Amino acid sequence: MARYTGPVCKLCRNKGQKLFLKGERCYSNKCAVEKRPYGSGQHGKARKKLSEYAIHLHEKQKVRHTYLVLEKQFSRYFAEAARKKGVTGTILLQMLESRLDSVLARTGFTQGRKHSRQLIRHKHFTVNGRTVNIPSYRVKPGDEIGVKEKSVSLIKGITEQVSVAAPPAWLTVDQDKLTVKLVSLPEREQLDPNVKEQLIIEYYSK
Ligand code: SF4
Repeated sequence: MARYTGPVCKLCRNKGQKLFLKGERCYSNKCAVEKRPYGSGQHGKARKKLSEYAIHLHEKQKVRHTYLVLEKQFSRYFAEAARKKGVTGTILLQMLESRLDSVLARTGFTQGRKHSRQLIRHKHFTVNGRTVNIPSYRVKPGDEIGVKEKSVSLIKGITEQVSVAAPPAWLTVDQDKLTVKLVSLPEREQLDPNVKEQLIIEYYSK
């Protein structure tokens, strides 16, 4: 499966905010955004004013990189969100948040989205008792994610090392049984207020 393999800290620096793509390092003082809070490259400190198009593009790329989704897949998510009844921007974010790799990244069972994807592909997790090795698998409200018996000690070891914020209200995480339940899809106000999804809608409407 194709994926972005370039330097991820550069993405954060050029977007001007943390995208949390490197697990534990993102929470430490080694974070590149903290150490060098300006764009990457020789002219990083002298960024010129962005055009309207660039502002829209930036926002779309920021969200796409945050969820580690490739261009084609992201535009498919958008097209699906636009077809559904409701607020397109919120539906888009809900779809991204309910990906199996996104859900696991919020639990402390992995070191972040990238690590989630790796562990999912290596078949360490189940959804409703069945092994799932697709990072983009869409978790539905009521679904329960579990850890395969052979992987319990591995995941337990990770949870002891990883320090993540308390899980969001839409997830129920049992750290002892290593299970996660998606209680409901997140409401917009429960999601990152820094995301300006209206800009993404405008980008695709051009
Ligand atoms: Fe972004 Fe994490 Fe790198 Fe900081 S350490 S720049 S948050 S990927």
